[in-house]
Amino acid sequence: MKGAMATGTLTIDLDAVAANWRALDHLSAPDVQTAAVVKADAYGLGAARVVRALAQAGARRFFVAVAEEGAMVRQALGPGPQIAVMAGHMAGDTEMIHDLDLTPMLNSIDQITRHLEALPGHPFGVQLDTGMNRLGLEEAEWQAVAAILLEAGPELVMSHLACADDPDSPMNEEQLTIFRQMTDGIGVPRSLAATGGILLGPDYHFDLTRPGVGLYGGQPFEAASRVVTLSLPVIQTRTVALGETVGYAASWVADGPATIATVSGGYADGLLRTLSNASVLWDGNTPCPLVGRVSMDLITVDVSHLPDMPRYLDIIGPHQTVDDLAQAAGTIGYEVLTSLGRRYVRRYIEGGA
Ligand SMILES: *Cc1c(COP(=O)(O)O)cnc(C)c1O
Repeated sequence: MKGAMATGTLTIDLDAVAANWRALDHLSAPDVQTAAVVKADAYGLGAARVVRALAQAGARRFFVAVAEEGAMVRQALGPGPQIAVMAGHMAGDTEMIHDLDLTPMLNSIDQITRHLEALPGHPFGVQLDTGMNRLGLEEAEWQAVAAILLEAGPELVMSHLACADDPDSPMNEEQLTIFRQMTDGIGVPRSLAATGGILLGPDYHFDLTRPGVGLYGGQPFEAASRVVTLSLPVIQTRTVALGETVGYAASWVADGPATIATVSGGYADGLLRTLSNASVLWDGNTPCPLVGRVSMDLITVDVSHLPDMPRYLDIIGPHQTVDDLAQAAGTIGYEVLTSLGRRYVRRYIEGGA
């Protein structure tokens, strides 16, 4: 850890990402392909590095949300691996889809028309809506165009589960039934499961799975290896007396003499304001409460009980996962990951070093 730096250090273990991909791959049968969802800059961890590590681990198919992300991933991977765009074929994306060999997942009759007219013969997939009501063709639309689409030879037909993180939700089986009704016998590779769907078991796996958050060590993949460590430098320490307050709105009041560390990192770095007075940072194995409000660039931490003043404190690490932090903030691990700030120095561990 370089003590002179005033920005936090985000350490991303690419070996753990690769291990998580392999572990998720092993949860489905050998003839089921495991793709990798790398949208939103690989959930905030840096798509260029992450996709190369995943390709090295054996991933051959990558999913992004929008074509611009696909362009970035193509640049990192070079020709070969398939890059699927879940937003489909938007007006204005044609050239990028063509030139960078992206595979749009077509979501609507408009997109189908656009794609087949603008880029006949160019690979595509189809997204079906099975109840989430977000993206994809509805049952009646699918019935109307399925013959034409199947004639054009889609690479994949996919849908997405709304409640896969809850194995007890009856919606999982409902969507599975609808997906089967819509696609049984079409003779095209199918995909329904993201991370949660993989954990629901083989009925949900079809030909291809699309894990995202599990690759990055997040719930609901309990068995995941930890990927992220976030260490924040201590800028200054001070003592406060009984009755003194700390931070904006004076929301924390010392109930005795205390030592407060001011740490670099705030809501502009993705440390959500709801963590105010509601989380801990760690000095090795020792928890230290976050006191007062999270401000834009700084947080304040009670370190009164530490024998020595630390140079940095961990807010994500061995004792506090991304999901633990999300729970303290009242959100989900996905939001914590994708909010990780641009100011952090991103340090990658690869090949065990
Ligand atoms: C984000 C997303 C995924 C990946 O989901 P995780 O829960 O992160 O595994 C897969 N498919 C679609 C359509 C998505 O939007």
